[in-house]
Amino acid sequence: MRILVTGGAGFIGSHLCKKLVDNRHDVLCVDNYFTGSKDNIVHLLANPLFEAMRHDVTFPLYVEVDRIFNLACPASPIHYQFDPVQTTKTSVHGAINMLGLAKRVKARILQASTSEVYGDPEVHPQTEAYWGRVNPIGPRACYDEGKRCAETLFFDYYRQHRLEIKVARIFNTYGPRMLPDDGRVVSNFVMQALRGQDITIYGDGTQTRSFCYIDDLVDGLLKLMDSPAEITGPVNLGNPVEFTMRELAEMTLKLTGSRSKLVFLPLPQDDPRQRQPDIAFARASLGWAPTIPLEEGLKRTIAYFRSVL
Ligand code: NAD
Ligand code: UDP
Ligand code: UDP
Repeated sequence: MRILVTGGAGFIGSHLCKKLVDNRHDVLCVDNYFTGSKDNIVHLLANPLFEAMRHDVTFPLYVEVDRIFNLACPASPIHYQFDPVQTTKTSVHGAINMLGLAKRVKARILQASTSEVYGDPEVHPQTEAYWGRVNPIGPRACYDEGKRCAETLFFDYYRQHRLEIKVARIFNTYGPRMLPDDGRVVSNFVMQALRGQDITIYGDGTQTRSFCYIDDLVDGLLKLMDSPAEITGPVNLGNPVEFTMRELAEMTLKLTGSRSKLVFLPLPQDDPRQRQPDIAFARASLGWAPTIPLEEGLKRTIAYFRSVL
C-alpha cells in the first residue's frame, strides 16, 4: 500500500515509517522538520520504498495514497508553546487538509490524538467515554484544544463524508530518538543522570504518568489502522502502569548508576496531577496491550542516549 505519514521524521513517526517499510509498504514521509530531523530517517533514505518530502501540513497537499497516519504536530510542551498559534494551525488546518486529501483519494486516515484531551482529569484511570477537563485559555491549550478540535473534524468528516477514520489517544510514549533537549520528563531525567547534573523534579514529584515504550505504541497504531472499518475510536493507546515522577527519577538513577541529586522546581501551570489510560477498549477491539515494562524500556532508552552523548 502507499502510505503517507505526516510528522514522519519525528520521534514516533520515524519508528512508524521504519516498521511500514519493513512490512513492504510504499511510504511517503511528510515533515517540515520543526522538531523532527533527517537524522531520524537517514537509515531509510536509501530504501526505494521510502520517500521524504519537506512540507508543512497547514498548506494543502495533493498526493495519491491509500492510507494516512496524521502525526504532524510538536508534542513536547517547550516546543508546542514556542509558537502556540502555529501549533493550533498545525492541528486544525493540518487535520482539515489531511481529511480533505483522504476524502478526495478515499484513503483511510488515522489521527495521532493525545491523552491531553482529558486535560487535568477528575476521572481516573481515563476511559474514552470521559470528556476531559481542559483549560481552554491556558498555556497548554494550543496543543490540547488543537487536538480536541482535530478529533471533532475527524468525526464530522466521518459522519458527513463517510470517511474511514481512526482516532488514537496516545499516552506518554518514550524511547530512542526522543530529542535529548525537548524538555520531556524521560529525556530530561536520563540526560541529567548521564551528565551527572541535578535531576529536575517539577513540583513535589507526586504527580503521575504512565509510560509506553515506542515499539508497543507503534504496534498499537498499526493494529488500529488495520482494524475493521467500524472501529473508529477514539481508542486509548498507552501503558496502564502508573508511576510518580519521583519514582521515575529514582529508577533512572538506579539504571544509570548516576549520583545526580534530585532537585525540586516549581510545577508548570496546568500540569496534570495524574494520568493513566484505561485500555480495556484497545484490548477488546484490537487485541493490543503493551508488553515492555518501564524498567526494560528505560534501559534501552538509556543505551540510546549514551550513544548520543
Ligand atoms: P515529534 O515532535 O518528535 O514529532 C512531530 C513531527 O511533526 C516532527 O517531525 C515535526 O517536525 C513535525 N511537524 C510539526 N509541525 C508540522 C507541520 N506543520 N507540518 C509538517 N510536519 C510538522 O513528536 P512525537 O512524540 O513523535 O509525536 C508525534 C505525534 O504523536 C504528535 O501528533 C503528538 O501530538 C502525538 N502524541 C505523542 C505523544 C508522546 O508521548 N510522544 C503522546 C501523545 C500524542
Ligand atoms: N485538500 C488537500 N489535498 C487534497 C484535497 C483537499 O490538501 O487532495 C485540502 C484543501 O486545501 C481543502 C481541505 O483539504 O481546503 C478540505 O478539503 P474538502 O474537500 O473537505 O473541503 P473544501 O475543498 O470544500 O474546502
Ligand atoms: N517533569 C519533571 N521534570 C522535568 C520534566 C517534566 O518533573 O524535567 C514533569 C512534568 O511537570 C509533568 C511530567 O513530568 O508532570 C511529564 O512531563 P512531560 O512534559 O514529559 O509530559 P506531559 O506533561 O505532557 O505529560
